[in-house]
Amino acid sequence: MNMIQRPRRLRISSGMRDLVRETELSPRDFVYPIFVVPGEGIKEEIPSMPGCYHYSVDQVADLAREIAARGIPAVEVFGLPAYKDEIGSSAWDMTSPVQRAMTAIKEAVPQLLVIGDVCLCQYTTHGHCGELNDHYVDNDATLPHLVQTAVSQARAGADIIAPSDMMDGRIAAIRAGLDAEGFVNTSIMSYAVKYASGYYGPFRDAADSAPAFGDRRQYQMDPANVREALKEAALDVQEGADIIMVKPALAYLDVVRQVYDRTDRPIAVYNVSGEYAMVKAAAANGWIDEQRIVLETLTSMKRAGAKIIITYHAIDAAEWLSA
Ligand SMILES: [Zn+2]
Repeated sequence: MNMIQRPRRLRISSGMRDLVRETELSPRDFVYPIFVVPGEGIKEEIPSMPGCYHYSVDQVADLAREIAARGIPAVEVFGLPAYKDEIGSSAWDMTSPVQRAMTAIKEAVPQLLVIGDVCLCQYTTHGHCGELNDHYVDNDATLPHLVQTAVSQARAGADIIAPSDMMDGRIAAIRAGLDAEGFVNTSIMSYAVKYASGYYGPFRDAADSAPAFGDRRQYQMDPANVREALKEAALDVQEGADIIMVKPALAYLDVVRQVYDRTDRPIAVYNVSGEYAMVKAAAANGWIDEQRIVLETLTSMKRAGAKIIITYHAIDAAEWLSA
């Protein structure tokens, strides 16, 4: 009678905590993003993202070997092109740094999965994610360019195509385009739920992709909406997406959970540049314990329902997890 309940019994020792732990983070959950640039012999730190670098293509084979050695199964390749134009045609140029880096990574480490980010904002002079019609991004005129980009990346060796543009109908268009070229086993990881977020700031420095005018609110999602996220995810599943992504991660864990509950596809999150930069800045000031904060944050993403975590912390976190 009046017996006190004692949940603390299961927290009494590290062995007991290990036994009952519900969520276990692993290097196998991680994807490491890589930024490639034109030129040779380049490894330059990105100022707003300490510990992350711009690499020229000749540097990526060594990087790929290091990533694979840490047990990380995949990289996502972003790039700065040698030239930009109105429609972003360097996005599907097989001689661009992204395509050449993909081929170099697959040659160096065939088992390392290569994910190709498909968008046009890094390749257009105006920095928007599609073809412009006056100041409006023309959805249907943009689709063929996204398909060309996806096919060029598959041809360069990408295992997974990841469209991040938020145009309507692009998953079906890309699936059909890949299949028509024989890439039936190339997967699609859709940035299905991508918010118009302030957390992308440092990435835009890294990828030189800030829009020249306006913002991306006509195609990226309003941070206030979750029912709309469920619609976007459901449409992309219908259109043939194999993996559904929510981006950013930390401020949207409720969205991650709801999408997880309503779809049978694996869920990915993108732990974006602003989330990374805040942790690095606070750690550099000695205000937080970086290792603890990073592992806790990544665990929260997995607990919310993400199996795949795209993160700039991947290499460090993999090392901490295996220590
Ligand atoms: Zn874009």
